[in-house]
Amino acid sequence: MLRHFLYGLILSAKRACPECPVEIKPMKLLSESARHLGLRLNEEHLRAFEIYYRELVAWNEKFNLTAITDYDQVQIKHFLDSLTCLLADEGLTRAICQQPGVRVIDVGAGAGFPGLPLKIVCPGLQLTLLEATGKKVGFLEHMVSRLGLAGVEVIRGRAEELGRDAAYRERYDLALARAVAELSVLVEYTLPFCRLGGLFVAQKGAEGDAEAKAAEGAMASLGGVLRCIVHLELSNLDKPRSLVVVEKIAPTPEKYPRRPGIPSKRPLKSQRSKVSKSQSSKASQ
Ligand code: SAM
Repeated sequence: MLRHFLYGLILSAKRACPECPVEIKPMKLLSESARHLGLRLNEEHLRAFEIYYRELVAWNEKFNLTAITDYDQVQIKHFLDSLTCLLADEGLTRAICQQPGVRVIDVGAGAGFPGLPLKIVCPGLQLTLLEATGKKVGFLEHMVSRLGLAGVEVIRGRAEELGRDAAYRERYDLALARAVAELSVLVEYTLPFCRLGGLFVAQKGAEGDAEAKAAEGAMASLGGVLRCIVHLELSNLDKPRSLVVVEKIAPTPEKYPRRPGIPSKRPLKSQRSKVSKSQSSKASQ
């Protein structure tokens, strides 16, 4: 209680005098929890996360960016959860993210999760944050400049459109998405961005296995294949979390992604089942 009261005072002071230096709180919970994941966050990282937290909460008063604003909850449910992307495929994603110049796209980034926390920890990433909503894009641009991050492009747009743009199509080593859509829809948003041999990592909950199974047809149609599902067991996260890892093994056919709104209206799996239904009814005539 006392900590929240004091924190409220600091925030009000910061708002009253935006340029005044403010004592940086330690992000202790994040630091300790990340250590359990084998990630050592240094002072610079923690300072960046602290600034991120403050800006998120301040902007959230004007725009609805997140329902999670409690200091500890943000550390775990946004920051730590984003960093768990580094645990996919026995640390393969961590190795990828630590290579300088690796190209990563976060599709439906919202207030920046998981892309921005990853960029803070792996500064060599060339990161694209794609987001459809203008106010969220405004926040992302503000955060990138506030944190002084180089090599981050913020784009306002829809995945269905940007995925057809030659400057972005099949250009990324890694695509990421959290809480954007069901997997059979999501693969149509993300796989067009992945280069051959690139990966798409979807952050999911307990539904990861069932969605992955249901999306296998959609993955195949888009040039992908399910590589693995990582079940995360983190004592701090109250709900089960999973990472569904899809590998791009063939170019995505030109007809994908379909027009904006069509992937969510008619996910590829249901198209496939419609086709097979009509084929089977023809076959039985
Ligand atoms: N990834 C963030 C997170 O986990 O906090 C945001 C999740 S929010 C529930 C989903 C976001 O995806 C929204 O901000 C929405 O505008 C964006 N989005 C949904 N469909 C999209 C699309 N087709 N192209 C780009 N952004 C999209």
